[in-house]
Amino acid sequence: MDAHLAHDLDRLPDLLEATRRHAVEMLAGLDARPVVPAASAPPKTGPLPEHGAGLAAALDAFAEDWAPRLSASAGPRYLGFVTGGATPAALAGDWLTAAYDQNSNSALDGAGQELERATVGWLRELFGLSDAHHGTFVSGATMSNTTGLAVAREWLGERLGVSPAEDGAAALGPVRVLSGAPHSSVAKGLSVLGLGRRSLVPVPTLPGREAVDPAALERLLAEGDGRPCVVVANAGTVNTVDFDDLRAVAALRERHPFWLHVDAAFGAFAALSSGHAHLVDGLDLADSVCVDLHKWLNVPYDSAVQFTRRPDLQARVFQNAAAYLGPLGEHPDLVHLTPENSHRLRALAAWFTLAAYGRAGHREVVERDVAAARALGEELAAAPEFRLLAPVRLNVVCFTLADRPTPERLTALREAAGPEVFVTPTVYGGTAALRAAFSNWRTTGADVRRAARALREAAAGLAGPA
Ligand SMILES: *Cc1c(COP(=O)(O)O)cnc(C)c1O
Repeated sequence: MDAHLAHDLDRLPDLLEATRRHAVEMLAGLDARPVVPAASAPPKTGPLPEHGAGLAAALDAFAEDWAPRLSASAGPRYLGFVTGGATPAALAGDWLTAAYDQNSNSALDGAGQELERATVGWLRELFGLSDAHHGTFVSGATMSNTTGLAVAREWLGERLGVSPAEDGAAALGPVRVLSGAPHSSVAKGLSVLGLGRRSLVPVPTLPGREAVDPAALERLLAEGDGRPCVVVANAGTVNTVDFDDLRAVAALRERHPFWLHVDAAFGAFAALSSGHAHLVDGLDLADSVCVDLHKWLNVPYDSAVQFTRRPDLQARVFQNAAAYLGPLGEHPDLVHLTPENSHRLRALAAWFTLAAYGRAGHREVVERDVAAARALGEELAAAPEFRLLAPVRLNVVCFTLADRPTPERLTALREAAGPEVFVTPTVYGGTAALRAAFSNWRTTGADVRRAARALREAAAGLAGPA
């Protein structure tokens, strides 16, 4: 055994204790550290060491060279993209995932995949899905959308009497995927699946909204002349958190054949709040559903779940026939259900946080984040420097500068506010804008006030008219 490796094995408890101390200090300092560190050149990295330095020295080098350059994305004022933190229980679960180091994809070696199935059952209850929905863990909503669309592709094949999994996507002929305001990952998934980004047909949305216009959707469906297609409904768009009317969309299946995939990456969490659950009414009618877990469930990256009513088609796409894996059977091992073969026991962090805080604990996080978004929306709407571009429907504030909202001025604003609050750029309705998305379990009203003050001061500091 390598000398450092033997030494580290010998000292494992002390070394893990030192690593734990590092993590605890970082987390204790989250509130004080810059949300986004000032840009600096990356540290000098020499060539691959022939002989390493051992874990203690590696930890020191990381703490010195890299840790200060990482963002405080686990903290309460990182409002960019849609970013969750990690609840205490989720973090503990994730640590233990690495410690146990399971490859939970088959029944051959213990209960790992049973733990995943049990956790999927809890998630189904959390989002109000019936047990007709089967679920699998994947690495993120992009993978969840891609997996759902892969099942949709096989369903199209079933309707047309071919199998894209066996014969290739070309066997389907032209495919239409209809959607109002799809996330960019849907186009990426279609590219990966051989359906092509151009298969995506934009459907008009309701006036002033990102929600699909059901009448326009029906007109486009009718143009298909009874040829099966795919509809991607959106439950929580990233700019304005708008929701398609899922019941109205699903009802169109009575007259037109389509697979209904719902991208509910973070919008599914509306189901936890009695005041907002109506937004995802009808989610259970979907043929497949995407939900991210590293966003609003607050488990560490990376984690998402994919639900489908047709695990048989899913297994047709993802089966991994190998002599040592045995036949598929009625309940295929997870190795046959997702793009990965091997995967970590990803469900454990979700299991821990659900076991530790339950529905009520996670409902409180969702409702506190929604209240925080409302409060920031009100502060910015009242501030002369800003205007809102959409009502705050759930957990995102979409806003811009009242005066000359150019991309350059918004970049300068974001950078000036960066140590205190991180928001991300977007374009909404042709206007350059910013988004503040609330999905961290730590965020409080005090953070909202700090973020609003930082944004107002940054706006005030922008260069005046030339
Ligand atoms: C975040 C998001 C995605 C992509 O999620 P990743 O976890 O980054 O892969 C897809 N759809 C929606 C609506 C999202 O918010």
